[in-house]
Amino acid sequence: MNLLENKVGLVLGVANKRSIAWACAEACHRNGALQAFSYQGDRLKENVEKLAGELPESLIVPMDVTNQAEVDAAFEAIGKKYGRLDYIIHSIAFAPREALEGDYVATTRDAFRTALEISAFSLNQVAFAAAPLMKEGGSIVTMSYYGAEKVVRNYNVMGVAKAALEASVRYLAADLGRQGIRVNAISAGPINTLSARGVKNMGSMLSYVAEKAPLQRNVEAAEVGNTALFLVSDLASGITGETIYVDCGYNIMGL
Ligand code: NDP
Repeated sequence: MNLLENKVGLVLGVANKRSIAWACAEACHRNGALQAFSYQGDRLKENVEKLAGELPESLIVPMDVTNQAEVDAAFEAIGKKYGRLDYIIHSIAFAPREALEGDYVATTRDAFRTALEISAFSLNQVAFAAAPLMKEGGSIVTMSYYGAEKVVRNYNVMGVAKAALEASVRYLAADLGRQGIRVNAISAGPINTLSARGVKNMGSMLSYVAEKAPLQRNVEAAEVGNTALFLVSDLASGITGETIYVDCGYNIMGL
């Protein structure tokens, strides 16, 4: 398959080879895309360079979304190298560790602001910066989680940030649709990544979900990657503003 021939993408959120962002990037690369990658801070630079540096015509740029100058510089570099952008995979989130355990009611102002800024507002930020480069339309995909919709113990402020993210997907889709830009979220089931390990009791969450989900297992990052590939390709040309569950069916279950 070559679903993304002549397309250029930007992938945010590759921390290592287990990252959901990397699974998305691999699926898109297999389908002919050229891709830019952004990372946060020098700590991850080497990891990203090792993984993404081997892909043809890749560009690796620093982009801590709390630093607007870095965001602007990253998009300038992308414009300079490729002259266009067709899709974005936005796969980043953060909340201080202490906010991801105990009672949600005790969330501090700082933790709330940080979680919402990095995990939700950053989608606006990159959509706004990308729109002028998406001259022939485009597709933006972000990653959400069930905790946006239902209470998941310890997910706390991140659930609230994901609810904001999903609402933001709809508002952005409404604004950007006239430019032919689609915006969607994937709500992934739990996957054992670096960020996920920050959520207390992740191990028991994984086994609980595997037991209850209709498919009787946890979802794999590659399955999320394939869905992202579908959403950024023309196969999904009629889909925007949606949150699509990729969770082995867990979310449909009641009692
Ligand atoms: P990873 O830890 O692999 O990826 C998270 C990425 O977010 C990292 O690259 C991280 O960089 C980056 N990030 C954090 N803060 C910033 C910032 N200020 N600016 C730029 N990047 C930043 O974890 P996942 O692959 O699991 O997470 C990807 C997305 O998928 C997240 O939105 C997550 O909430 C979502 N998701 C994950 C699920 C799971 O179970 N794993 C389930 C459903 C959704 P750094 O390491 O430097 O902080």
